[in-house]
Amino acid sequence: MRVITTRQEMAQACRQTARPLGLVPTMGALHAGHLELVRRAREDNSTVAVTIFINPTQFGPKEDLGKYPRALEQDLALLRPLSVDLVYAPSVEQVYPSGFDTWVDPGKVAVRLEGACRPGHFRGVATVVTKLFTLIRPDRAYFGQKDGQQCLVVRQLARDLDLGVDVVVLPTVREHDGLAMSSRNAYLTPDQRWAAPVVYRALCRAEQLWREGERDAETLRQVARAELESEPLVEAIDYVSVADADTLEELDAIQGKAMASVAVSLGRTRLIDNVILG
Ligand code: AMP
Repeated sequence: MRVITTRQEMAQACRQTARPLGLVPTMGALHAGHLELVRRAREDNSTVAVTIFINPTQFGPKEDLGKYPRALEQDLALLRPLSVDLVYAPSVEQVYPSGFDTWVDPGKVAVRLEGACRPGHFRGVATVVTKLFTLIRPDRAYFGQKDGQQCLVVRQLARDLDLGVDVVVLPTVREHDGLAMSSRNAYLTPDQRWAAPVVYRALCRAEQLWREGERDAETLRQVARAELESEPLVEAIDYVSVADADTLEELDAIQGKAMASVAVSLGRTRLIDNVILG
């Protein structure tokens, strides 16, 4: 496993390596959700590259960039047994050298939900993903359904900008109590961690009703919201959405595939999760 920190060296390593190349972009503090993406990339490709980069441009000014967990040595120890070939862990200066001034501005699919709550977030995501795809030129890139809207944004940008990358989306990996694994779960106090499964429970309530045949999206949003509101440690509900799974337009009646998604704050920790209906 080669650990690379400069863009020149990474570009050269990727040019010389065996194809197909599978890329797993991460911000580090790796958990079982990330490792599933790496395992799948290993199965599918001759070369596996993992990037570990806390991308400052996708954090808002009041967000958790400063305290985001950093655990490079531990991350490398988790990746070694998975036979990863290349790890790219650049500094901010490597990715955004002084004078950097070009952005990738994603369209409609980035406007709602996380895009509305976190202005500029998807511009930062789209920009860094485009830069990583351009530098590494992967054949496939692996993303988690946990960040459902991000998957749609990345798919769209890969298509629109002719990046020639096959975007593979894998299911959300969960703790035993249903909480979606996330590097941010480390922020939760023991009480909040105890309460946090309410997020998935709310989505499961909606999914259960949907399975029973309910197709009125507002009814599903209401049961999910009621479940979230039943937990006193949920301090804010940013959204409860039942939207078209491709466009993320909020639905009235569910006909095709839908994505039910929620974003809440437990104290100062913001949690997001989603399930696909259909
Ligand atoms: P992050 O390090 O949070 O930027 O995540 C890197 C990649 O791992 C993204 O594609 C995430 O969607 C994915 N990911 C994060 N958490 C999970 C999870 N619990 N299950 C599956 N994929 C995940």
